[in-house]
Amino acid sequence: KPEITMDVFEKHESKVRSYSRSFPTVFKKAKGYKLWDVNNREYIDFFAGAGALNYGHNHDKMKELLIKYIEEDAITHSLDMATMARGEFLKKFNQVILKPRNLDYKVMFPGPTGTNTVESALKIARKVTGRNTVISFTNGFHGMTIGSLSVTGNASKRGGAGIPLNNSVFMPFDDYVDSGSSLDYIEAFLVNSSSGVDLPAAMILETVQGEGGINAASYEWLQGIEKLCKRFGILLIIDDVQAGCGRTGTFFSFEPAGITPDIVCLSKSIGGYGLPMALTLIKSKYDIWEPGEHNGTFRGNNMAFVTATEALKYWETNNFSQEIAKKSEMMSAFVDFLVHEYPQLHGEKRGRGLMQGVACKNGEMSEQICENAFKRGLLMETSGPEGEVFKFLPPLIIDEEGLEKGFQIVEDSIKAVLD
Ligand code: PMP
Repeated sequence: KPEITMDVFEKHESKVRSYSRSFPTVFKKAKGYKLWDVNNREYIDFFAGAGALNYGHNHDKMKELLIKYIEEDAITHSLDMATMARGEFLKKFNQVILKPRNLDYKVMFPGPTGTNTVESALKIARKVTGRNTVISFTNGFHGMTIGSLSVTGNASKRGGAGIPLNNSVFMPFDDYVDSGSSLDYIEAFLVNSSSGVDLPAAMILETVQGEGGINAASYEWLQGIEKLCKRFGILLIIDDVQAGCGRTGTFFSFEPAGITPDIVCLSKSIGGYGLPMALTLIKSKYDIWEPGEHNGTFRGNNMAFVTATEALKYWETNNFSQEIAKKSEMMSAFVDFLVHEYPQLHGEKRGRGLMQGVACKNGEMSEQICENAFKRGLLMETSGPEGEVFKFLPPLIIDEEGLEKGFQIVEDSIKAVLD
């Protein structure tokens, strides 16, 4: 008999604010791309901890290494002091990620979460440029603390702060300007700024807006953004917290665009096992912080280093990218199918890699589809300013059978909602 029964759930969970509203059950166990609740119901995971579980739940090898590490009484907490686990991670990260890509970044551990890496990026960009404002983009999501929220383009999230948040200027993302590229619009703004008003310190953006509606920026637009940044001495920050670590097919989401951001923010799946970890990559020439200018008690989680090092082994061959690409094609074909087969959805295809979705008629419809999917054994979330997008974000290691099963549940849920 489960200890936490549904009675307990109803009594206590109704008092907390959490995902238990979207997924009203008590989860007990998880492996790979599946979870089970206390009633032994099985769920396929198309949510993957909002991108924190790219390598699935309880990865065998990572679990084994973690247990061994604890058994050996190795260092757990170290306040960012040098440890074996940290050293091994840095060695592997350099060998597998930075060196083959010819990237000259300093690595820093800004704290345990995505928000922490964004805060550190915003701070260093201000310090390097001596400028104040930051350009961010409509529907971008960067975190919940005051700095990261101030560059988040979501009205309801900003509303949580209760007061206007300053120091950010919002620009339209990619092709949101009907008459053409938003690059012209941004360029005009910067030209005006340089003839009097302050220029911004940085631009911060996601290449695929994870929370803002799975809007994927074109590679040409990203190249245009990089050019503008260079021309006006603005630091380019790519927030790869959700789209990075392979989600869109390559380790960094910006690789196919051929751009080199000044600062890169990573978190979520960098820890590999769902353990809190974040890192900020800063071009070496911009590493101007004095010791102690940015610190935090939970920087550099050693247990996350152990699993993160193992996770990087996925990137030692090209097969992982190919594997992701193959499954992304299946997902893309399924999204096309839904959009054409179910015109009542008013569906629009969104996303890239294993981060895709369908923007449908409104938030209510998309929510109903997710609710229905949950009842049928699939975890899936909504995205977008009105929650109008239902979003497919499975662990990258999901097999084709898992994907097919998930897709079937999505289609059955759509049918049930549209009937
Ligand atoms: N940036 C992006 C792109 C994100 O998707 C998120 C989390 N959804 C964050 C930053 C914030 O990360 P965290 O919740 O770990 O603070």
